[in-house]
Amino acid sequence: MTTSLDLRSDFPILERRIQGHPLVYFDSAATTLKPTPVIEAISHFYTYSSGPVHRGVYTLSREATDQYEAARRKVQHFIGADSPEEIIFTRGTTASLNLLAHSFGQAFLRPGDVVLLSEIEHHSNLVPWQMLAERRGVVLRYIPVNDAGELIIDEFFNLLDRKVKLISLAHISNVLGTLHPVKTLIEAAHRMGAFVCLDGAQSAPHLPLDVQELDVDFYAFSGHKLYGPTGIGVLYGKRDLLSQMPPIEGGGDMIEQVTLEKTTYAPLPFKFEAGTPMVAQAIGLGAAIDYVETIGMEKIAAYEAKLLNYATNRLSAVPGVKLIGTARKKGAIISFVIDGTHPLDLATLLDCRGIAVRTGHHCSQPTMERFGLSHTARLSFGIYNTLEEIDTLISTLKSLLPLVRRA
Ligand code: PMP
Repeated sequence: MTTSLDLRSDFPILERRIQGHPLVYFDSAATTLKPTPVIEAISHFYTYSSGPVHRGVYTLSREATDQYEAARRKVQHFIGADSPEEIIFTRGTTASLNLLAHSFGQAFLRPGDVVLLSEIEHHSNLVPWQMLAERRGVVLRYIPVNDAGELIIDEFFNLLDRKVKLISLAHISNVLGTLHPVKTLIEAAHRMGAFVCLDGAQSAPHLPLDVQELDVDFYAFSGHKLYGPTGIGVLYGKRDLLSQMPPIEGGGDMIEQVTLEKTTYAPLPFKFEAGTPMVAQAIGLGAAIDYVETIGMEKIAAYEAKLLNYATNRLSAVPGVKLIGTARKKGAIISFVIDGTHPLDLATLLDCRGIAVRTGHHCSQPTMERFGLSHTARLSFGIYNTLEEIDTLISTLKSLLPLVRRA
């Protein structure tokens, strides 16, 4: 059995020792480690061709513009979009969803219209809609999940009526790992005249993706979870919808003509990118996309499924462990609790052995509430993880449990 993708030497941080132990990193859902080609692309830009985009006629500015726009085309091809105009660079998934809530809200939603979410969304796909509901009298409805963490499809159909104008859902839950049947949901939404946004923070780095094949209307993701830098993300939107939506931020770069009386806006995608954009970060994201595409997203998905299955089997065999989120289709994320232990105690001791595991509510307090918990421990995998690291986790866990079990 292949026990690794044989690319660990691409990630210099894996040479670090944490408290004397090799780093075992199980928090890729929060942010991924960075491979050398990404680090070098950013460093190369700042070293050799740092310049402002879309402004100067001089060489450095032209080079910066070419690289920035090349990164946009890489994103376009990576997600299967029809044109680079449909790719808006943002600061990350959170910024993308806030932009969507503001702009789509202004263009398409009237008081009484419904936005349909699930009860297990990340706060980034919940709070912006709650703020919109307060501002514009939009109504929010929530699709419930069963005890495995799967959407209850009958309830989805009960909640989906002509008042629903937008459904916004995580493609993969960052807490439970659930991979939702998005194709079915999108088809049903479109039959009812509703648009669909997928929060792809946990899917873009892990699955092959084709937004046109899915026929999804909007898709948001973050560069730093895709082996790229922080400070860059994407909002994809169908051109026809984006062109009906107003810009949210005003300033340089997003204008066509400005007089003291009136401004006309630049065409897509620039009308949504006010100010000097995140040039180095976009170039870093482009390098990250090149990197994962060289490996192949199919291969990544298959390998991570193997990590998930192996870890699920080994972890559930540890006495007292309860997995939270047991959907039939999952991304490589496992939340769990252990009888008589506090996840924070456990994670602190694991860190002393070099093992990075996340604990807390994972920015989704409603998910915790749904499962009657205040926190879980969470393992999430990336392309650098190995089956041996999972073995290390399990044996370390077993040795630590007598220390952290509370009477
Ligand atoms: N949605 C989901 C499902 C996530 O997992 C995250 C990050 N944990 C976000 C949104 C927010 O992403 P960012 O912090 O990069 O904006």
